Amino acid sequence: MTTPPHHPTRSPYLEGLRCIQCDERHPVADRPRGCPSCAARGRNSNLFCVYADAAPADQRYPYLEVPALGQGETPMLPVDGQPNVWVKNEAANPTGSHKDRFSAFATAHARACGYRGVVIGSSGNAGLSMAAYAAAAGLRCTVAGFDSLPDRVRSYLTGFGAEVRTFATDRERVALVEELAAAPDTLAVSNITHPVVGSSCFGIEGYKRISWEIADRAPEPVRHVILPSSRGDLAWGVHRGFAEVAEQRGLPVPRLHLVEPYPRLSAVLDGASLTDRFPGDFGRLSSIAGDGTTVQAHRAVTRSKGSAVVVSDAVADEWFSRLCRRGHVWERSSATVFAALDTLRARGRLTEGEPTVLIATSHLFKGF
Ligand SMILES: [Zn+2]
Repeated sequence: MTTPPHHPTRSPYLEGLRCIQCDERHPVADRPRGCPSCAARGRNSNLFCVYADAAPADQRYPYLEVPALGQGETPMLPVDGQPNVWVKNEAANPTGSHKDRFSAFATAHARACGYRGVVIGSSGNAGLSMAAYAAAAGLRCTVAGFDSLPDRVRSYLTGFGAEVRTFATDRERVALVEELAAAPDTLAVSNITHPVVGSSCFGIEGYKRISWEIADRAPEPVRHVILPSSRGDLAWGVHRGFAEVAEQRGLPVPRLHLVEPYPRLSAVLDGASLTDRFPGDFGRLSSIAGDGTTVQAHRAVTRSKGSAVVVSDAVADEWFSRLCRRGHVWERSSATVFAALDTLRARGRLTEGEPTVLIATSHLFKGF
């Protein structure tokens, strides 16, 4: 067990932030609305951390110490009957999802900047993870969720010491996050804008380790990565990680294929605007719900020469049942990546035998 860092050390190599969309550089600061220049044009975009060229790979993270509850180094499992296909099991993280990697860095950032509390607009995997890591870091945590919050999840959140507030609509939920984050001692770690920006760029850096772990364990360079996606936090972090792997090891950057429950990013890739809203039915795929997409999701796909894949709730259900019968404990949104593999092969975008990793993002036993 590790004592939470009191003042996490910022990487001496962190030089600033850069806009994903317009490339403008900004000093290190909290910008929950993303790049100010892009926001002024109504074309919101997240930022990402940039490091000095001399930074070694293990110091290309904003903080060198983060709350450690055992996140990361998750297993990579071979898929039966599918040569060169593996599942990166992110459900093996402490609170059962990839979000723990984000929460570790977001709470380190909050501590380092002297915040006393964090507020997050999610009562799903992200809220649960943030509540645990805020507790580990000694921060207050407010979770803004929906009225449909299952009792068992509420009990986990309050068990971690979080204050839980629930609302009927997303608009009300975001309004609370915005209101609380107006206090100088409270940091918002989830999106508060439309068009959607995404989450804290300091937290997203935590996802880069997934790419390094995949590169370290795969017996040959991975060509495709398939992952569930809503607003592209994970996709952007994984893409940045692979870009660093490529630079350090001279390997190709794998194509990222983002799975969504109905066309949002797919619509943008077909010509719709990134600032549009895309209302639709996500069924029980609540972890990848939402009616907007983001610049970061779009760039993760276009820069990696990947694609977006739609997997409906009904198809996800079939795969979910099939995986459960094999003893796998992943939630429905994680089952979508298996269906997407079939779709990509049928489209000729991915051929059998090409090294491919599916990211299973979350554990089943949380009641979402
Ligand atoms: Zn910009």
